[in-house]
Amino acid sequence: MRSRWSHSRLTKLLRCGEAYRRDEEEKELAPPTSGMVRGTVVHAIAAEGHERQIKGKAKRPDDPKSMVLRESLPDEEEAADLAASRFDWEQKQSGIVAPGEEEPEKVVIGRDKDSSIRMSRHLVTTVAPYVDPIAVEAKLVVEPQDANIRISGILDLITNEPPLVPGGPPRRGVRDYKTSRKAPSEGEADTSGQLSMYALLDTLQTGKIADVFALDFVVEDGRLLRPPYKVSLESTRTQEDIDVMIERLNNAIEGAAAGVFLANGVGTWQCSPRWCQWWTTCKFVSKARVKT
Ligand code: SF4
Repeated sequence: MRSRWSHSRLTKLLRCGEAYRRDEEEKELAPPTSGMVRGTVVHAIAAEGHERQIKGKAKRPDDPKSMVLRESLPDEEEAADLAASRFDWEQKQSGIVAPGEEEPEKVVIGRDKDSSIRMSRHLVTTVAPYVDPIAVEAKLVVEPQDANIRISGILDLITNEPPLVPGGPPRRGVRDYKTSRKAPSEGEADTSGQLSMYALLDTLQTGKIADVFALDFVVEDGRLLRPPYKVSLESTRTQEDIDVMIERLNNAIEGAAAGVFLANGVGTWQCSPRWCQWWTTCKFVSKARVKT
């Protein structure tokens, strides 16, 4: 019988076996970091906005699509209110920490809350109006042929992408939002394991590899006086990328079944006090060497 996995558990296992062990095996409790919560808030505002766009298109099929996409979104003030409420709700639910920072925790958390509000404003006014969503947080269940598992997953955003040439065939995109304090490196979408996982899920569901796989970064370092800006990194995936992902999954799952959880996050951007809630107590990192 196939073992059941959610794609978020698999992603966690691939990202770092030690983080997976503490989270999923030991069920240790650690509040999210303020950086993680900022990302959660911006994702939530994006999901709300894109859902409204999908409903708007269904209700107003005869109006110009670009107008409907723009007018369906929450306005800037509503997005700011939604973001503030969501940040407070996350803090009430599980607490928020900000380890490894030079300033007091309260200051960092307050700054990340303000930053999540500014990013949400930016998203609904500057980014989302130009997105044509097909589905938001689409739930799916797939059974890869070469792995003895059933994966349930959620694709954040599936889009209609502009044709490559005017009048060309429509293209399909799988996109994900990220938040960051600094501009991402150029090849991040090409090497993203998360996008390869999305490619696996989406392709098994639809039978066709999507044309575009993208990470849309909303970037702002709240410590500087520069407003948020967007960096879109677009990439593609091939059948070979999907096959490699299945091999990696099989490898990680075999390790987990044998009780082997490698601390393979070390050296990645996620292995930092801002992005891993286990960092302060993790025996695999030298804290003196890490800068946030
Ligand atoms: S701090 Fe680094 S090595 Fe430790 S659990 Fe987190 S990602 Fe893994």
